[in-house]
Amino acid sequence: MTVYQGCGLHIDGEWRETASGGGIAVVDPVNEDVLGTIPRAGAAELDAALGAVARMAPVWGGTPGWQRSAVLREIAHRMAERAEPAVRDMSLETGKPLAEARGEWQAAVEQFDWYADEARRIFGHSLAGREPGVRLDVHYAPVGPVAAFTAWNFPALLPARKVAAALAAGCTVIVKPSEEAPSGMAHIARCAVDAGLPDGVLNMVLGDPAEISAHLIASPVIRKVSLTGSVAVGRLLMEQSARGLKKVSMELGGHAPVLVYPDADPVKVGGICAATKFRNAGQVCISPTRFYVHEDIYQPFAEAMARVAGTVTLGRGTDEGVQMGPMANARGRDRVAALVRDALDRGAELLAGGAIPKDRNGGFFFEPTVLGRVPREAAILHEEPFGPVAPIVPFRDHDEVIRLANDSGFGLAGYVFSGSLATANRAAEALEVGMVGINDMLLAAAEVPFGGVKDSGFGREGGRLGILEYLEAKYVKTRCA
Ligand code: NAD
Repeated sequence: MTVYQGCGLHIDGEWRETASGGGIAVVDPVNEDVLGTIPRAGAAELDAALGAVARMAPVWGGTPGWQRSAVLREIAHRMAERAEPAVRDMSLETGKPLAEARGEWQAAVEQFDWYADEARRIFGHSLAGREPGVRLDVHYAPVGPVAAFTAWNFPALLPARKVAAALAAGCTVIVKPSEEAPSGMAHIARCAVDAGLPDGVLNMVLGDPAEISAHLIASPVIRKVSLTGSVAVGRLLMEQSARGLKKVSMELGGHAPVLVYPDADPVKVGGICAATKFRNAGQVCISPTRFYVHEDIYQPFAEAMARVAGTVTLGRGTDEGVQMGPMANARGRDRVAALVRDALDRGAELLAGGAIPKDRNGGFFFEPTVLGRVPREAAILHEEPFGPVAPIVPFRDHDEVIRLANDSGFGLAGYVFSGSLATANRAAEALEVGMVGINDMLLAAAEVPFGGVKDSGFGREGGRLGILEYLEAKYVKTRCA
């Protein structure tokens, strides 16, 4: 039986199950039933959240890093203890298999654990002055209240990356997770309350995304805007932020090329690529998205991918043995269907899948799909499919494949497979992306910087760099005598 709790808004330490804007249905992606209803914040709730982050900014920002660190560590502990209810809710909302939701929750725990350390390691630098007795010091201070917006595909990890770094830096936060998958963030907020985070430091709102972003970003209280989402929404939030000259981080869409050189093992690499491609039904910003495979090994690679695609078990994410759930929503499924149709119309070969499964009555399922010899003008090679489709394109030489790989507005991740590290490093240097995997596709981790270039945005989350997005440098000159 499906037991779904839903969640309320969390404002100034209080949970609000109803709000002035009414309610919003959360839809079950497996059968399109209503899972539950969440409150829709109106101006009253947004103003209450703004009041809370403004009031608590000097309090939390003035709390010593060692104390902030202890609270963050405790949040990580509480999250680790309470994984299962969160994992289940995330699976119900997004359709992702439980094993994937568990992996995501653990990655979210690691963000808090990592930033618990970073909170104690905020240090500036000092320089000698040009004259005797003059000292030049650079300190870091929290940027101020943050408005954070996140997508539904990783409903715990995406907000965790922002919230953990912001809290470590000493910022107060209003986070708006996706209304399609709000529970992950609500579970994090409950852990934060129980870990002793003072009321009003972390707030969570839900509602009409456009209304919320317009209201929050227009407020002089908000000093920093951080989004994980699509390029289109990124542009919109940038425009809104420009008016108030707010510091901005943008984690936007991706269209990761995969370069498979002729000295790679095509069957092994084809298997790795397929397993990675169909994770989270392809709804991953760094999902491998265009497969450029050398003509000499094209055939065995394509066969290996198609073979794996044909064995993926579809179903409800919470059911035993399910490897791929539905897509999260109808707009995603319809976008993928249209891109597959376009590629086939232009002459691509259908090697696996290609349709909405016939044995599914409702829900947002799409078959794991492999397209061969996809023509370069096919839309799927240029637009983000964000779904379980793998287009494969043969190539002949290094310069050609680098040109093809960089012929994209996106620049988030890229992957290179080669038996020669010299070849792989040459390709990695040439790729216009923020992250490269060489003979490996698992890029994301708490200890490394995650982010893109070009239309994929700017700013980094995680690693040593992530906390800088929430800090401002202040320079002090002291004449000692
Ligand atoms: P989206 O841009 O539609 O939504 C992202 C967030 O912005 C959500 O909270 C949403 O409610 C909010 N939003 C939507 N419309 C808005 C508006 N008009 N004003 C203000 N906020 C608005 O993206 P999505 O469909 O939820 O997620 C998929 C996209 O996110 C893909 O492009 C994917 O690549 C990207 N993504 C990027 C990363 C990354 O780290 N770079 C990670 C995951 C997802």
